[in-house]
Amino acid sequence: MDLEQPSAEHAARPWVDIDLAALCANYAMIRAQAPAAETAAVVKCNAYGLGMEPVATALAEREKCRTFFVAYAQEGAALRNLLNSADAKIYVFNGPTAETTPLYERAALTPVLNSLEQAKTWVRLRPGAPAALHIDTGMNRLGAPASEITEIAALQGLSIELTMSHLACSSDPANPMNDAQREKFLELAAAFPNARKSLAASGGTLIDARFHFDLVRPGIALYGGSPFDVDDARIKPVARLCAPVIQVRTIAAGEAVGYSATFAARTQTRIATVALGYGDGIPRAGSGRAEAFIAGGRARIAGRVSMDLISLDLAGLTPDVQAGDYAVFLGEEVSLFEAAAACGTFPYEMLTSLGRRIERRYFS
Ligand SMILES: *Cc1c(COP(=O)(O)O)cnc(C)c1O
Repeated sequence: MDLEQPSAEHAARPWVDIDLAALCANYAMIRAQAPAAETAAVVKCNAYGLGMEPVATALAEREKCRTFFVAYAQEGAALRNLLNSADAKIYVFNGPTAETTPLYERAALTPVLNSLEQAKTWVRLRPGAPAALHIDTGMNRLGAPASEITEIAALQGLSIELTMSHLACSSDPANPMNDAQREKFLELAAAFPNARKSLAASGGTLIDARFHFDLVRPGIALYGGSPFDVDDARIKPVARLCAPVIQVRTIAAGEAVGYSATFAARTQTRIATVALGYGDGIPRAGSGRAEAFIAGGRARIAGRVSMDLISLDLAGLTPDVQAGDYAVFLGEEVSLFEAAAACGTFPYEMLTSLGRRIERRYFS
């Protein structure tokens, strides 16, 4: 991606550059990791905050991705409209209710059934229409429990084309719960011998082939985030978050910066204030801890993150920073993983929190 200077129009507010070529490269990397499986794409929550339309369009057109997962039927209907193609398969994780079932029909969505109750609703309203079944294997969040499987398998008119489950601990490849869930999944999915199987999100996919089965469902790795408790060099950054400097000042030793005066300068210090804040999704927990890249080096946040402003401590940076320059908070220079950790969160929350006020710019 070109590291472009902001245009005049961007100079006064934050923006995020979204590299669709890197998104596609991440998809291709995952497909290469799981060559025997189909690679779907999870695009819920507005494609993890990066924009469902450009993301899904790039994956469908350039990478020929044919299977997508969203959380809500409404997200699925929006995706169906923008994909402009009837052959894409759209699964809805949260499953149908009597009220949303008509939307499934209209937008040709396939539900993921998560309980005997949802399965009964679906066969009653759409007998014979295909569905996926999420089987709970120990996460105890969403999915049909083991005790319901026999009854679900016996439902007349139910057509399960895909069984799936979700790993609770794939952020830690060595966690024994991964294999325990895999065993449980094999045992319970056997009640649906003709259905394809899916167990892996990004984490399971990147651990190894034991978790791949017929279809993998990556989300975060497509968007440049590591699914693990450490960074993962196989994943390319996709989002580059930038904020313009709107004022630079020099403060004397002992002077403070920001709300509650939590930063005190030890020596004479240059402070750059940028247009970005917790109102844009930068956690206040990053106060005094997170770093941005500016003027060829790293600058730590000085004092508290405000709603629309962050002050950076320019100590140790030689080139003179001026209003109109910009600081990079996420990207090649500061990984999503590092930035999230410094803010007391993790890549998923960091991305999905990026405020609507931040302009998204797309690069191919
Ligand atoms: C969100 C989600 C995914 C994608 O997870 P990542 O960790 O982002 O790859 C896959 N499966 C289910 C059931 C999910 O809820």
